[in-house]
Amino acid sequence: MIEPVGQVWLDGKVVDAEDSRVGLLTHSLHYGFGALDGFRSYRQDGGGVAAFRLADHLARLRSSASAIGLELGHTHGDLVEGACDVLRTNGLDDAYVRPLVFVGEPNIIFAHWLNPVHVALVPFAWSGYSDRDADAGTTAQVSPYPRPKAHAALYNAKLTGNYLLSVIAFGHARSSGVQQAIFLDEDGFVCESTGENLFAVHGNLVSTPPATRSLLPGLTRATVLVLAAELGYEVAERDLTVPQLHDADEVFTTGTASGVLAIPELDGRRIGDGTAPVARALRQRYLDAARGRLPEHADWLTIL
Ligand code: PMP
Repeated sequence: MIEPVGQVWLDGKVVDAEDSRVGLLTHSLHYGFGALDGFRSYRQDGGGVAAFRLADHLARLRSSASAIGLELGHTHGDLVEGACDVLRTNGLDDAYVRPLVFVGEPNIIFAHWLNPVHVALVPFAWSGYSDRDADAGTTAQVSPYPRPKAHAALYNAKLTGNYLLSVIAFGHARSSGVQQAIFLDEDGFVCESTGENLFAVHGNLVSTPPATRSLLPGLTRATVLVLAAELGYEVAERDLTVPQLHDADEVFTTGTASGVLAIPELDGRRIGDGTAPVARALRQRYLDAARGRLPEHADWLTIL
């Protein structure tokens, strides 16, 4: 369960969430013109709390905003400090934080530069999927809504307007009785799910579609490519088709919120024997890194 909290960071200050409401003329609300991100903090095995790959998430927030011409107006150091402050103030350990860059009021014409740019860090108490839910994995279907191929560069950034198709495809999947949808692009190549990257396992090869497709090259994807290589798998970024997913030994997703999650059933078919041992091993190793059990990856952790 994701629980909202009492205090958020807005434009450089920690304030009550109640005092951070936005008005109806908020420009980004009308046009999906904004940038977002999502990072997690984890209770550490050795005590204390750390944010996972915080610097990378904040750098991506800045570059996503910059892709649509928005400047954050806060230094990297201010944002790191803000992130740590807002987690500490709320007394959080296992949490998810949603950074959001949006254009404010009062002009709702397209000239967004007439309005102020706001930056928010909104935390939620969230300890991720239970082991049982993660072990069960999730079900998915290929979405009937394709990702526009020509917009690959925009999908490489984490922009609020990119999520329109995700929300539609997610609702369509749920109303069809499955949990998740997988996007293809207009050429029929696999992109990603509505909010996670996608991987396939064929024997010893762990592969994921390249960032030249319409997808967000996620930080969990990058982390898993490193961890999979460390575990001795061959890793590749390569185009994948739907038959290649159906014939895979395993299909799994990666994302900050859900970590590594197997898809033992896709389009009503069982994938491999459904047990997804590679996804399980990678999920465990990812959690080991996030909980501070891998000294060689201590640089991924920002201790609060
Ligand atoms: N693709 C999309 C569309 C996403 O929203 C996310 C979540 N940020 C991802 C992939 C996974 O990215 P990350 O691993 O950085 O969370």
